[in-house]
Amino acid sequence: MRNRCSTDGSVSSTSAGSVLLDSELLSAVQKPSRYLGGEVGQVRKNLTEVRSVVGLCYPDLYEIGMSHIGLRILYGILNDLPDVAAERVYAVAPDMESGLRGRDARLATLENRVALADLDVLGFTLQYELSYSNILQVLDLGGIPFRSAQRRREHPVVIAGGPCAFNSEPIAPFLDAVCLGDGEQTVVELVQVVADWRATSKSRQWLLRRLADVPGVYVPSLYTPHYHADGRVAAIEPAPGLPARVAKAIVSDLDAAPYPTSTPVPFMDVVHDRVGVEIQRGCMRGCRFCQAGYIYRPERQRSPETVQKLVRSALKKTGIEEYSLLSLSAGDYNCVEPLLTSLMDEHEQRRSSISLPSMRLETLSPGIMEQVGRVRKTSFTVAPEAGSDRLRSVINKVIDEDVLVDMVDEVFRRGWRSLKFYFMLGLPTEQYDDLSAIVDLGSRCLARARRSVRGAGITVSVSSFVPKSHTPFQWAPQIDLDEIRARQDFLRTELRRAGLGFRYHESRSSVMEGVFSRGDRRCADLLESAYRAGARLDGWQEHLDEAAWAKGFEQTGLDARFYNQRHRDGDEVFPWDHIDIGMERKWLWEDWQDALEGGFVPDCSDDPCYDCGVCDHKEVHNRIYVSPEPGAAPQHRDRQRLRGSVDYRKQDPQFVAMPRPPGRKSNNAVDAVPSQGLAPGSAIARAAAGQREEDSGRGPQRPKPPSVESEDPADLCDTRLPVAERLKVEIRYGKRGQLRFLGHLEVMKVFLRALRRLEAPVIWNRGFRPAPRLGFGPALAAGFGSTCEFAELELKRPLDVNLFAEQLKQEMPDELPVLAVREVPVKGRAVAARITAWGYRVDAPMALFGEARKAVEEFLACATVPIEVSRKGKTRNVDIRPAVQALDEVGDGSWLLKVQFGGPGARIRDVLRAIWGEHAARSVKGWAVTRVETWFDQGADA
Ligand code: SF4
Repeated sequence: MRNRCSTDGSVSSTSAGSVLLDSELLSAVQKPSRYLGGEVGQVRKNLTEVRSVVGLCYPDLYEIGMSHIGLRILYGILNDLPDVAAERVYAVAPDMESGLRGRDARLATLENRVALADLDVLGFTLQYELSYSNILQVLDLGGIPFRSAQRRREHPVVIAGGPCAFNSEPIAPFLDAVCLGDGEQTVVELVQVVADWRATSKSRQWLLRRLADVPGVYVPSLYTPHYHADGRVAAIEPAPGLPARVAKAIVSDLDAAPYPTSTPVPFMDVVHDRVGVEIQRGCMRGCRFCQAGYIYRPERQRSPETVQKLVRSALKKTGIEEYSLLSLSAGDYNCVEPLLTSLMDEHEQRRSSISLPSMRLETLSPGIMEQVGRVRKTSFTVAPEAGSDRLRSVINKVIDEDVLVDMVDEVFRRGWRSLKFYFMLGLPTEQYDDLSAIVDLGSRCLARARRSVRGAGITVSVSSFVPKSHTPFQWAPQIDLDEIRARQDFLRTELRRAGLGFRYHESRSSVMEGVFSRGDRRCADLLESAYRAGARLDGWQEHLDEAAWAKGFEQTGLDARFYNQRHRDGDEVFPWDHIDIGMERKWLWEDWQDALEGGFVPDCSDDPCYDCGVCDHKEVHNRIYVSPEPGAAPQHRDRQRLRGSVDYRKQDPQFVAMPRPPGRKSNNAVDAVPSQGLAPGSAIARAAAGQREEDSGRGPQRPKPPSVESEDPADLCDTRLPVAERLKVEIRYGKRGQLRFLGHLEVMKVFLRALRRLEAPVIWNRGFRPAPRLGFGPALAAGFGSTCEFAELELKRPLDVNLFAEQLKQEMPDELPVLAVREVPVKGRAVAARITAWGYRVDAPMALFGEARKAVEEFLACATVPIEVSRKGKTRNVDIRPAVQALDEVGDGSWLLKVQFGGPGARIRDVLRAIWGEHAARSVKGWAVTRVETWFDQGADA
């Protein structure tokens, strides 16, 4: 193993500075829980027992990165290997960046605090182009040279994968290798190759050549671009012995692929705070703007039985309250409705709600609405993308507006109160008539919605279209910034006039997105220049630094218009032409020509194959699962039999299917696999036996999907349980180590999820988000330790309180220990109402002992101590002296400070500041503050 840090979570062995996350740094940043690690579910291996340490980086802030399912999968797969430790790292906010720089400290992984420069492999996921500057931030703060050519044997091998890897040329000089396509197998092989190489003395160049032999791996330094005088790419030349094109890796059978269900459970609120189970990869709808629809072909579904098992396991292991079925288009999953019914039957009692974040409205049935709304009406996405039939033909997203309006009506009639529509602005051939059609469609839907719900709201969210590589629109020019703004202005005026809400995406960032989507290798200089000028977190409106990018363009002489607005001929060589997604470029060109005439391409999972080139029709082909005919035993269906047999969606009388135009070519190649091994009595089995239940009623990447309000699911509420059947326990717990920096709400979430993992018999309250009846004592300031925090929980009898206490102790993180659990009267006063005073132990740094004692003496000698406190922008004077009931020295440099609870309005930080100053108030620079005692109105707490 290479020399790397200790595992005490604090110090790195790297020569250039420490990775210490000291209290002062954590107390100075806005959201310390981004940087703590230590979550339930994290894997922290002994690094002396592994061959490789791999850093997995989502190059954005923790709350974005922790929502990403792809890295969670790779984290699980790699950590399942006994000789590999996979650890997480994220980009950092400006406050943490300046804190690290100020201390000459290096960015490190969350688990073992390994300095990035000491990793064997550092892998980035490339989800969107606006995260590229964050990659440089991570390399920079990690002490890793930016460019592959600058790195030596001792540096980590820097790799990347994800959708943007399909045109990674703009960042190619920064990467040693790129994983194309499905990473499950590729990354394992790549890590083993690196580990084997580390055991030799062979050169880094030798390694890169060896990596190029791994299926699905592209090594940019072995491919050299040449340019025409006018700036266009002339050719991309491979090194001798390498193929002209590098093919992506495909996991042909998703059902057989590993899918870890244990995952770190975040403390803080992250963008998608839910369990995600991928039900399907690939989408055959053929929407021409959608890169994912082309690079992830063909369509591969996971069996409903496997999905059920994964959801069950993930909910049990994480305790997360919401789960999501992930797919580019969840409604296209053939068994979606019986699967939903089965999942809801199983998890409804635990109040686990489901969300379908990528739901095409035309695939929504009343049955789906019914199931999704059973616990909580989570959101639906309505994404017509374009307002007019004509433009929807151009993008190949044909929908019947009458059906869409009916479905919107149905959604509102079933209790949803708001809905959000997604459109794109600037699509190829778009005219102002198409924009007016957005307003017309929204108005029609709003009128229908308000027939059912007075005050119903529809918000139209509009993003700017950016042409992507490997799509038919890769030849299309992008509209410029002025035009984007003009069209946004038009929509803003017209939509507001029609009573519709309007949201739009920051138009400035779409210029940079366009450049890097279809950029070439020269864009790396632009990126580095902009980064050095201050570009960071470009996907965040508040951080996008236009001046930095302007400087980058100026220094490199590149012009955004060359990449975004230029006309491209059919035979132009693209920077990404040597990346093989399986589809023929000729096919994409023909489809671009068809698009301009509104030509339709059918869904080849339903309709005949049109030979796009992805499938070999042996191992690689569309894999779908269909429900068997009522009463029939599940059986395998080959492609011929599928066409004449049962498609669940077509058989369901309540399924509302969009009329589809006929296919234009014919050569079908679909394998359909029926769901096997249905659990007796499960909803899927009932559906198979014709016992379908009657349908009755249902609900970012940034931005988040639309949220909707709902009525309480009153039948799920059990607060009406007789008192005799209820039991209340008081839980005393502590807070120490780095988890001192968790906020009060974050601690509450830890408890809620521990209770879910335990499947504790909690009493559920009413509300939009069903939650256990769990109350907490007053909040403790972040950064302070404690041995006496309190929570109260209502449970159902019968219950062995001692056994429950032991189980709860096991479920909590070490730094949030449960110290005691005792039964208290169900109807007794809440703990917060009984507390009269807190006791804090204050430890001063030894060097300041004398000064600290003098400060105490001076404070105690005062009859009044007026201080100024500010709350919510208002300042007032408060005398804090009466609130201090005792201040006793309990050891050299330690005092016990007893402070009245609910006193004159000053907080503990104010009191500490008044006695000892700012460092004591913030518990930094050797000062330590711990809440150690509580007084109740009946006397001292046991
Ligand atoms: S080869 Fe045929 S079946 Fe396979 S993805 Fe392409 S069109 Fe569909």
